[in-house]
Amino acid sequence: MSATEVERDSPSVVVTGAAGGIGAATVGALAKRGARVLAVDLDADGLAELCAGLGPSVVAHRADVGDEADAEAMIATAVAEFGRLDGLFNNAGIVGVRAPVVDYPAEDLDRVYRTNVRGVFLGMKYAIPALVAAGGGSIVNAASTGAMVGASNMAGYISSKHAVLGLTRTVALEVARLGITVNAMAPGTVDTPMVQPFFAGLSPEEARQRLLGVTRTGRIAQPAEIAAVATWLLLDRPTYLTGALIPIDGAQTAQAGTA
Ligand code: NAD
Repeated sequence: MSATEVERDSPSVVVTGAAGGIGAATVGALAKRGARVLAVDLDADGLAELCAGLGPSVVAHRADVGDEADAEAMIATAVAEFGRLDGLFNNAGIVGVRAPVVDYPAEDLDRVYRTNVRGVFLGMKYAIPALVAAGGGSIVNAASTGAMVGASNMAGYISSKHAVLGLTRTVALEVARLGITVNAMAPGTVDTPMVQPFFAGLSPEEARQRLLGVTRTGRIAQPAEIAAVATWLLLDRPTYLTGALIPIDGAQTAQAGTA
């Protein structure tokens, strides 16, 4: 098989939030497996840095996932670049402010929902026709353990991740006969820029004690540990796994309390 044939046959995947911790790790893992990747983010500098190390199979594309025209163009660009679309990782997400609900600004709820919920909705809306044209595919949505349980002072984020689960289940049913799987991942705490504010000002021992309170592993996940599951869903495509929420949380949600 020639290099051109390998390229034509290799899967094509869109990853949003590609310049962030989990996104960048997933783009790298997908590229290592021979996939062609459209790496999407708002952060053009971050994308340039990511793509510099990865070769021509990874193409940077700046877009706001909450903007409908951007979402449509993102999918069209992947099809134009690679000739087909086999997978979408709706990974872009933001935390929003941390405040009790009585102090939580309604505008921030809208801002969080725009990326975390509307972005996932729009990604699926425009990807599905392209996946159907390719004969099927895999959609992976970034939920969180916050799709299963609450967390104080995070009304926007936690409710947005519950909504990602609802979207995942709904769309999985809609496309079940089209050869498309739709799943959500529920990472616990992962070592990325998103969680740095949660540990700001703590000594290493204080951080360790806080982590022991939430997970028996005594550590937070590395982005590569989440990327491995995303890559499995996107490239290996376990065909009867759909409509699922997959915890990747070091047994955090397996325990009752801290006993
Ligand atoms: P991160 O902050 O490192 O990366 C997020 C990326 O999304 C950034 O590069 C940012 O520029 C991009 N982004 C934000 N809004 C965007 C928009 N509107 N359009 C396009 N790009 C946008 O975060 P991360 O930790 O890698 O998180 C990735 C996903 O995993 C998020 O959905 C997050 O909620 C989820 N998650 C993270 C953790 C964790 O502990 N880090 C845990 C559970 C779930």
